[in-house]
Amino acid sequence: MSQAKNNRKCYYCGQKLVEYTCSRSHPVPPDNGYTRDHIDPRANGGSGKTVACCFKCNRDKGMLSAEEFRAVLALRSGRLTMPNFVFFGEKDGNNSVTCETP
Ligand SMILES: [Zn+2]
Repeated sequence: MSQAKNNRKCYYCGQKLVEYTCSRSHPVPPDNGYTRDHIDPRANGGSGKTVACCFKCNRDKGMLSAEEFRAVLALRSGRLTMPNFVFFGEKDGNNSVTCETP
C-alpha cells in the first residue's frame, strides 16, 4: 500500500507526486504536490470521479473539462497545433492593433 502511495504519478502529466503538509510558512502546495481532482467538474455535469494529480495540473485545469485540459496539455507539449484558428484581430484587414516598443 505504501509502495503504491510512494509511486503515485499525476494522472494528467505523469510526474511523480509528493506528499506535502500545508503550513503557515508554506501555505501553497508545491507544483508536484499530491492532490485529487474531479476529472470532469461537477459544475459541468461531470461524474464526480476523481483522479490523483499534481497541484500544477489541478490549478491549471481549474474548471476545464477533461477534453479541454487535454487540448491545453497537447498544445503545451507541441503535439497539437491549430493552424486554422486565428484570433479575430489577426485576420487580414483587422490587424490594426499592434504592439509598439517605446
Ligand atoms: Zn500534473
